[in-house]
Amino acid sequence: MDEKKRPIAIDPPDCGCTECIVGEYVPLREASEDQIAQMLRGELRDHTSVPFRVSARWELYDPHPDSQHLVSVQVIADLWNGTTLTWDVTPYLDVLPGQVFGPPRD
Ligand SMILES: [Zn+2]
Repeated sequence: MDEKKRPIAIDPPDCGCTECIVGEYVPLREASEDQIAQMLRGELRDHTSVPFRVSARWELYDPHPDSQHLVSVQVIADLWNGTTLTWDVTPYLDVLPGQVFGPPRD
């Protein structure tokens, strides 16, 4: 199978335009978690016309009561028909899951 070239934009969910067919753009519904993370970083253009929400879950980090660590980050697209698409972009963030945040040490 021929490798599709790396897309430069994410198009609306079910787009079937020529660019999506040749792989220049990718329809939102087929976008990978990695591609959604790239869009958040501005490396892929957003042609979707869809509003996105980002949901981050933090947990207290046991040994240090004032610290917490990032558990997961999800990106949710609210489609116009009332359905949603969700991607877990946690592995593609610069902040690693399990990284501990807390008050600065002196
Ligand atoms: Zn398209």
